[in-house]
Amino acid sequence: MLIFYAIFLSLILSLGSAYSTLSDDTLKNLPSPGDDFHIKQGSILAPILIPRVSGTEGNAAVLRHFVDFFKTHLPKWNLEFHNSTSTTPTSNGKQIPFVNLIATRDPPGAQVGEVGRLALVAHYDSKLTPTGFIGATDSAAPCAMLLHLARNIDAALTKKWGAMAAEGIDELDEQKGVQILLLDGEEAFQSWTDTDSLYGSRALASDWERSFHPAMSTYRTPLDSISLFVLLDLLGASSPNVPSYFKTTHWAYKNMAAIEHRLRELGIFKSSPNHSSKMEKRKNKKPRAEPHFLVDAEKGDKMFMGGFVQDDHVPFMARGVEILHLIPTPFPRVWHEMDDDGDHLDMDTVEDWTRLVTAFAGEWMELEGFFDFKKEKRKESYEKTEL
Ligand SMILES: [Zn+2]
Repeated sequence: MLIFYAIFLSLILSLGSAYSTLSDDTLKNLPSPGDDFHIKQGSILAPILIPRVSGTEGNAAVLRHFVDFFKTHLPKWNLEFHNSTSTTPTSNGKQIPFVNLIATRDPPGAQVGEVGRLALVAHYDSKLTPTGFIGATDSAAPCAMLLHLARNIDAALTKKWGAMAAEGIDELDEQKGVQILLLDGEEAFQSWTDTDSLYGSRALASDWERSFHPAMSTYRTPLDSISLFVLLDLLGASSPNVPSYFKTTHWAYKNMAAIEHRLRELGIFKSSPNHSSKMEKRKNKKPRAEPHFLVDAEKGDKMFMGGFVQDDHVPFMARGVEILHLIPTPFPRVWHEMDDDGDHLDMDTVEDWTRLVTAFAGEWMELEGFFDFKKEKRKESYEKTEL
């Protein structure tokens, strides 16, 4: 009886908590976004680099781009729109629509309410002022990173879940999914207050809190189903300094910091001053100091003072969701300025963030051994010759 209890307990503890590192080979071979992130013609990033204020045609066009992307490349992902409306300080009493896009990939056959999900989140609306504002770091680039990430782990997820089904592994062992939340209405229309900001995330968190899964579900609501809410914001400028904001998710921060360290050691972090592309142009070949994006890997438990940045995670955090907030302090110099545009992105940094967050998702989903890089490359070159 005691033994049975111990096995049962370890099974419960293993749900959603397993995490395993990727090999050096996998880290090296994760495909980079390359031309897809070209700021003028890139199929992923360029269509997002337009003004996309909530309720405008630009906003709708960017949403269509996301939907097209998933429908074309990722048909196994379930797409949902979450709609809400609100007046704003500048709408003269008119209701403005806010549309969040939720893209989810769960293990095949999983019951709703039984899947714990890694949620990867960014906002896609842009700020009303200054007129014509693009918001490349805020948050066009983070949205592009998440699309690329989804495409890069998709085949590995299929392969992993296929292998598990072939081996007859009980679905209890794997109840982990991935969710990408592309949120609308993050920006204030006039100036940041509790009611003039976070329109999309406030509505979503509040609705999800009241959407109950079937009775006896492991996770009561879609909010409960989020094991970790990773929010990307203001990423894409060079030399970001991203602190660890929350003690309860510092373990996840440290896992990501460990990946960053390994990527730098492997010489594949393109923004590093010691990357081969930078060394070639330099006379003095002595290695330079290597500041990390994630600066708080060594932060002790007692050093968490409770400070954080107001952002889309707040309505979720207030309802008990665990948050990993990837936002630099200080903000990029271009923050809320006209020159937060494609030309001012540091593309090496954008690429490094993409690889880092993709690798983190790969470790979270335990995808080591399920990536098939040769096949991916063949497909890419085939597609190119076809053009
Ligand atoms: Zn902003």
